[in-house]
This record gives sequence, structure tokens and C-alpha cells, in this order.
Amino acid sequence: MDDRLITRARNTRARFQQVFSNPPQVVAYGPGRVDLLGSHTDYNEGFVLPVAIDLEVMAAGRKRKDRRIRIWSHNFGKLSAFILDNIESDTKAKWSNYARGVIKCMLDAGYELGGADVLLDGAVPIGSGLSSSAAVEMAVAMLLQSLFDLEIADTELALVGQKAENQFVGINTGIMDQFASRLGKSGHAVFLDCRSLEFELVPMPMEHVRIVVADTMKRRGLVDSEYNLRRGQCEQAVEALKPYAREARALRDITPEQFEENRNILPKALRKRAEHVIYENERVLKARELLRIGDLDGFGNLMNASHDSSRDLYEVSCIELEAMVGAARRVPGVLGSRMAGAGFGGCTVSLVEKDMVEEFQRLVSAEYYEKTGVKPIFYVCTAADGASVLEVRS
Ligand code: ADP
Ligand code: MG
Repeated sequence: MDDRLITRARNTRARFQQVFSNPPQVVAYGPGRVDLLGSHTDYNEGFVLPVAIDLEVMAAGRKRKDRRIRIWSHNFGKLSAFILDNIESDTKAKWSNYARGVIKCMLDAGYELGGADVLLDGAVPIGSGLSSSAAVEMAVAMLLQSLFDLEIADTELALVGQKAENQFVGINTGIMDQFASRLGKSGHAVFLDCRSLEFELVPMPMEHVRIVVADTMKRRGLVDSEYNLRRGQCEQAVEALKPYAREARALRDITPEQFEENRNILPKALRKRAEHVIYENERVLKARELLRIGDLDGFGNLMNASHDSSRDLYEVSCIELEAMVGAARRVPGVLGSRMAGAGFGGCTVSLVEKDMVEEFQRLVSAEYYEKTGVKPIFYVCTAADGASVLEVRS
């Protein structure tokens, strides 16, 4: 385990002791994640390629003799408490609903839990698109798994987190975030087939590069309505192409050849959306091949192509994302740069030579500020391990 995690665990332990006047029995964590490739492919049942990052939510816990759960968030500076047999969402401490949902879903799945005191101590920026929510879910699930001696398969644990977010919190997200947070591996990216949940840990040599996330500080206002619009357009494109690809259930099933032969039957908007998704899936497959042979330059080119297609064909970019990606690509030592997540704001992700990371931040910050009047925030990351248990004491 690296020194940074040891230090973080020590701090979280001390915070737990302060709040609950007893030491924790277990310290676990779940990392945030960033998507390196695979833009809007998830709900088209295609491929994604995220990495777990070295920003994580720590969860410390201690069993109680009763059936009460008390959760303290260091970041929110608040407590939320409830009884295991009656878990409802907390309208005052909304932040606690992610943990509540995980606990409810674990109980519903038949896992036996008892009462516990839990402390959350997060380093994943909240609401920036690095999935602090999945980090909380995986941290809590790992903590409880260890505290109550449960054996839960990795994929199962990710699904519990997704279910908590979908059904308890009420946010309709795919499986990528929880999957990356649970199954990520240091020095690897996670290739995931969103239909079958088959995955592969693909080596991502990190000795000489860093993953730099740049927050445009533009909040994603349009995202809900535009997102639903795009989803609908993808479904319509599949319907229109079905006569030419009979087995197709989703855009994932349409080959580039089938698309090219029949592209003219699609109205312009549907044609652009379908073209983006079909070739984005191809890029993720190609990226997996390139990573297998350690070709990070080629990988960076795919990141650039992904962004350009998201902008021109899927039309989910915005002035701020363009300013940030444009500035990033002008810095020497940048292998590739693209929007992260769904677009319309949020963060970009760039692959940057390690020695150029400081220069990158200086130059991109200056240019972005000049164009938008806003100072961006950077997170310099590496491909890190997925959720783990760090310390167990009886
Ligand atoms: P993102 O996942 O992109 O960071 P979300 O809105 O999906 O943004 O999830 C953020 C929510 O996750 C927060 O509003 C809060 O409810 C929960 N959360 C994240 N970090 C913490 C933390 N350290 N303590 C408690 N809750 C947290
Ligand atoms: Mg989230």
C-alpha cells in the first residue's frame, strides 16, 4: 500500500475517534473515476474505458450492539442516523442517501448487517463528474462487507451501488462508475462491455504520464433534457436501421459497414448521432488494442478523435469545453485531450507527459482564464486501485 493511502487512513481513523470517541474497527475506501474513452456509448449497450483514480472516499466503521446506523460526513460536518429496519431517505441530510441506499440494497439482497458507526472522509471533488457518489457507495459497501464478514463478488458489489443510486437516490446512471470504482487496478484502465458486463483490465503504463482532469467550472445546466433527447435519437436510429441489420437491439449492434451502406436513409440528426456512437465503440475497441501494445501516443489520438466526434456529430460540447481542450492540445507533451462525462460543461481529461504537468497547468489556466474569465481547477491523477479494505482491527 502506498504512503499516501496510509496517511489518509490514519487521518480518517483519528477523525472517527474524535467523532465517535472510539477507534474504528475497519477503514476502507472507494476511488473516484474518470472516463478516458467511450462517450455516450454506455446506454447504447456499447463499450467504455474508465480508470479508477487516486482520489478516494475513505469510510471508517465500528460495529454497534444495537441496530442503529450513525453516519458522519467529515466533508459535510453532519450526522445522519437511522434504524436498519426502517431505512428512508433523509430529506435534510441528502448526502446520506447514497450510504442509506447501499445499506438498504444490501439488506434487500439478503446480506445480514448489524448497527454501526460510520465516518466518511472524501477527497473526491463533489459534483465535478469524478463520481464521488460511486466512491461513497463503494467505500460504504466495502466497509460493511468487512465489518460483517460478508462475501460479495466484485461485480455484485458494483451492482448494489448502482441499484442504490438508481432506486434509492433516484438518479438514472449506468454501471460504469461503480464498476470502475470497484474493479479498477493500479496502472490499468477498465475496458467494460456495458451489455454483458464482461470486462478486461488493460495495462495503462503510467510511469511517464499523468491523467490531468481540468474542471471548466461550468455546471452542466442543459444536460438532462439534451441527454434524454440524444437517448431518444439513438433509439430512433436503431429502429430506422433495423430493416438492414435485423438482429440489432442497440447501436452497439450496427457495424460501420452496415451504417455506411445505409446512412442515407437516416435523417441528418439521427445520422450524426448514430455515426458518433458506432465509431466511438470502434475507438474503444481500438484503444484496447493500442494499450495492449503500450501505444499511448496512438491512444491519445483516439481521445482527440473522441472529443471531436462528441462535438461535431453528437453535439454535446460547449464554449468552455472547447476553450479547455483547445488550450490543452497546444501544450507540448499532451498526448490527447477530450471532454470527460456527458458534455455540456464539467471536466476535461488529458493525458500529459509527467514532466510537463506543471507547465500544462500554468499554460492551460492562463489561456482558459483569458478566454472565459474563469480560473479552472486541476486534478492530477494516476490509474489507481479500486475499492479496498485498508485496516482491520478487532
Ligand atoms: P459526482 O458523483 O459527479 O461527484 P453526484 O451528484 O453524483 O456528483 O454525487 C455527489 C453526492 O455524493 C453528494 O451530493 C453527496 O450526496 C455524496 N457524497 C460525495 N462525497 C461525499 C462525502 N465525502 N460525504 C458524504 N456524501 C458524499
Ligand atoms: Mg455521481
